[in-house]
Amino acid sequence: MSDATGSTGLGARIARRIRAEGPLSVAAFMAMALHDPEYGYYRHQYPIGRDGDFITAPEISQIFGELIGLWCADLWRRMGAPDPVTIVELGPGRGVLLADFLRAAGTVPEFRRAMRLYLVEASPVLRVAQAECLAAAAPVFVADLDAVPEGSLLLVANEFFDALPVRQFVRCRNQWAERLVAVDEGGRFVFVDGRESALATALVPAALRDSPAGTIAEICPSSAALAGGIASRLVRHEGAALLIDYGHGVATPGATLAAVRLHRAADVLEDPGMADLSVHVDFAAIAVAAVAAGAQAYGPMPQGRFLTALGADARLAALCAGAPRDRRDRLERGLTRLIDPREMGTLFKALALVSPGLPAPAGFEAGL
Ligand code: SAH
Repeated sequence: MSDATGSTGLGARIARRIRAEGPLSVAAFMAMALHDPEYGYYRHQYPIGRDGDFITAPEISQIFGELIGLWCADLWRRMGAPDPVTIVELGPGRGVLLADFLRAAGTVPEFRRAMRLYLVEASPVLRVAQAECLAAAAPVFVADLDAVPEGSLLLVANEFFDALPVRQFVRCRNQWAERLVAVDEGGRFVFVDGRESALATALVPAALRDSPAGTIAEICPSSAALAGGIASRLVRHEGAALLIDYGHGVATPGATLAAVRLHRAADVLEDPGMADLSVHVDFAAIAVAAVAAGAQAYGPMPQGRFLTALGADARLAALCAGAPRDRRDRLERGLTRLIDPREMGTLFKALALVSPGLPAPAGFEAGL
């Protein structure tokens, strides 16, 4: 039996909190829906794959992880081949990206031997899948980036920043107000506007402040904080980070928070914990935070252009040579999906954060 607030105990738990504390920020609602220790989406659901809720680039084509592995190997050489070198993946999903990465990096045996692998993963179910898939590389699981030892760093995050909680603001008559989540008389979650204030206005990106009444703006404090943390590390030790996600390169108005369940759009506020919640990433805000902390930022570069610049077509041709027809078709279809502007080629983007003093990484030399 499901009541108005959902089918697990989480809806009731969030509703109790709202009744006790007042309406919650969208970020607080999102954090509980994704990470509640008992019923949070990432605590109990198996998100990725045909039987999950969504599919990601490394699951679509092995070329994705392979090219990222070679991108890192190239940077490692330019960094002077540090040994050891820390490889971090944020949110490694089923471990597929790193498995492909490691296979490709095996072509540079000294790089492969120097690697120490650290995985930041919230989901216990996915941690099991990653431990199995990457057993040969003996990964160490850590709670967050702060728990990764200091040293030369190569960090990869694919579809990680889109899961970080956002706050939403709505332009009212004179000022902006935070958009909040309340419970209505029927016990359902609803969006309500908080009070207009100069403080709320100050939190909205300057480029959006003069938008017409009713405009919604999103900010993601945790992604700016994480970008700052990565950049500070890159200032202390040589290295780079590659962040790939769907999103925009300049501050863009509109609510992008969306729910996906079993590969279909779902209601953001309905049945919390049962659907994945994600947002379009504001790459401009991430780059600004990283540059403020001392790193260089390159991009964001459309994913299609980035993969093509790294040699995706040559890799496809090599994999297809001598392969049976159905495997060739699958490889071609997979890469097209990642690169075609009508599919993931343009909406998805790559941003590189690099230590001061290192040259532009592969794929970003030409600029935009
Ligand atoms: N990178 C993978 C998976 C993307 S899905 C791929 O491309 O297939 C998002 C991943 O981030 C999942 O592994 C999820 O469990 C993890 N995740 C989301 N929020 C997290 C958080 N706050 N801390 C750690 N891991 C998180």
